Amino acid sequence: MSQKYADIIIDISHEAIDKAFQYMIPKELEPDISVGVLVMVPFGKGNKVRKGYVIGISEKPEFDVERMKMIQGIADGSLPIEGKLIKLAAWMREKYGSTMINCLMTVMPVKEQVRKHAPRISGEEYKILTPVVTKLNSSQQSLVDDFSNDIDRGIKETYLLHGVTGSGKTEVYIECIKKAVSKGKQAVVLVPEIALTYQNVARFKQHFKDRVAVINSKQSKGEKYREFMRAQAHEVDVVIGPRSALFSPCADLGLIVIDEEHDSAYKSDMTPKYHTRDVAIKRAEIEGASVILGSATPSVESYMSAKLGMYKLWKLDKRPDEKQLASVSVVDLRHELRMGNRSILSDELKKAIDERLKKKEQIMLFINRRGYNSFISCRECGEAIKCPKCDVSLSYHKNGGTYDKNSSGMMVCHYCGYVTKKPDRCPACDSKLIGGFGTGTEKVEAEIKRIFPNAKTLRMDKDTTKKKTSQKNILRTFNNKEADILIGTQMIVKGHDFGNVTLVGIIIADMSLFANDYRAGERTFDLLTQAAGRAGRGSEAGQVIIQTYQPDHYAIAAAAKQDYESFFDLEMAYRRMLSYPPICNMMVILMVGEDYDRTNNEADALGALLKKETGHMKATRIIGPSDATIGKINSMFRKVIYVKSNNPEELFQVREIAEGYESDAVSIMVDVNPMNMY
Ligand code: ADP
Ligand code: ZN
Ligand code: ZN
Repeated sequence: MSQKYADIIIDISHEAIDKAFQYMIPKELEPDISVGVLVMVPFGKGNKVRKGYVIGISEKPEFDVERMKMIQGIADGSLPIEGKLIKLAAWMREKYGSTMINCLMTVMPVKEQVRKHAPRISGEEYKILTPVVTKLNSSQQSLVDDFSNDIDRGIKETYLLHGVTGSGKTEVYIECIKKAVSKGKQAVVLVPEIALTYQNVARFKQHFKDRVAVINSKQSKGEKYREFMRAQAHEVDVVIGPRSALFSPCADLGLIVIDEEHDSAYKSDMTPKYHTRDVAIKRAEIEGASVILGSATPSVESYMSAKLGMYKLWKLDKRPDEKQLASVSVVDLRHELRMGNRSILSDELKKAIDERLKKKEQIMLFINRRGYNSFISCRECGEAIKCPKCDVSLSYHKNGGTYDKNSSGMMVCHYCGYVTKKPDRCPACDSKLIGGFGTGTEKVEAEIKRIFPNAKTLRMDKDTTKKKTSQKNILRTFNNKEADILIGTQMIVKGHDFGNVTLVGIIIADMSLFANDYRAGERTFDLLTQAAGRAGRGSEAGQVIIQTYQPDHYAIAAAAKQDYESFFDLEMAYRRMLSYPPICNMMVILMVGEDYDRTNNEADALGALLKKETGHMKATRIIGPSDATIGKINSMFRKVIYVKSNNPEELFQVREIAEGYESDAVSIMVDVNPMNMY
């Protein structure tokens, strides 16, 4: 048998996490040494004995074996928490690619001092809340009972809680967490960053008091580390936060809850491009913990897994105390146009707004886009004004606002940040007839002010929430009923609970369908269902009006009927027909280079290499290369190769070839089961 070598990190909690040292593994220790195990090694000039973690094992020495030291012994065979996280990192490396070091940096808490204390959410803010629910209804209780029985019998499961909006999923999470806590365990609760509101956090604090740690993206590294250390010391029972909170080093992890599990924020946009759901399930397996996934609109991945019996399916079909789901109607905008209505508000929506204003009820208007007119184009030559560095149209912002206070209009590239003043003439043909297309939040607000001059409006989108506090202020103002109408992008859709909102209007439902993206239908269904869920949270019945040019599209039709099952069946038929996830795995290989010809040549060469190397593979297909959806960003050219595969082992091999492809003309990145098309 050949000699084996281990890569070892000495000081795991330090910035020097990227320094691994290779040691020889003595034959007698070989069976006990695996990734994550804590070992004793001689270190430094004096060969002082130190502890270190094994992060990788290989059969190839990386330097002179004569000079290589030997592992002395095993310090702790039962994987300590760091060891478990290292094991998780190794699994991520295998599934998503990138390097072990990158994966370790993602999962390990890195020590940092707290330099400046950021203000914590004060006690005051928790008072604006819905009262603590004391008694679950029978549907909720039966789920909690099921969970309790499983825990008592030592059964660890992944549960998928499919509950309509407002059905009381959060209360179910809380009671399940209490059960886990009663067994001496801790829970991690993940929410999309955007839903990490004081309302949500406060509900957990009401139950678990100060034994809750909160992670958010505005914390400094030091603050985050401090919260992580509270989890490690078991000073808290619950850690709540966005996807990175999954890596809280809880000493006694018993339960991971992922709320809004369908949300695309759970896919990391940095390498390794992991999906939080998959990593959570793996972490739970390593730790012996349970997982609860919750959503009103489960991802087709999760719902398929539940239907195949891999997850236990839980349902909450009704809102507590029989509160009705909102009534939904669909307005065909093509018909409005034929009737001569050129406004962005249909007659039906205008009437409904008018009625609700008269009754002093609140309204939310949702649009899937920001900016006044989304782009400016020339009516004579048809040219849209493009970013000089990217292959996209510039967005027009009527109010120079955050970009230039003195300007009446700015053109902005949302991909590279390029900003320029709106020109008076077409740069291509010099015509003066240039104008805007599309609709955005600003335009909706202007139209509302024109038709309902007395209505008080608030606007919430990326432009109005740049400041740390502004989003909170907008929500608070609306919650205090100091405004009648809240106009916003997807930001207003998620997780906010306003009792006085009785009307939700969706200005144009189809926008997200145009995206070149196999998840466009799913995303549209999610957005519409979540938006509809905002209406009628209080005692008044809710009303939803969906405006669309595509009333017959299955995602829109199913959302209008609030019928997840029929959406799922049609969506799966489409995925099956075109072999998209979750029917098979899809990996994108993105190549980016600054020289057009060299980028093309490298893409062709890699494509040919992959086709040759996969020729014998039965379950794997290489597609492309072709231009990326946006062929140029920030003056860099972009090519893609897609790989579809039903075999994880084959996919792994393809990935190794792609990641190992050496080129000084392009950089290469892979993404397994991407959430966006490239
Ligand atoms: P979801 O997370 O499914 O959207 P929530 O947990 O936010 O739903 O619950 C929606 C509302 O219903 C909240 O105001 C909550 O306090 C209330 N609620 C939940 N369960 C019950 C119950 N059993 N009885 C009365 N009200 C409840
Ligand atoms: Zn022109
Ligand atoms: Zn640009």
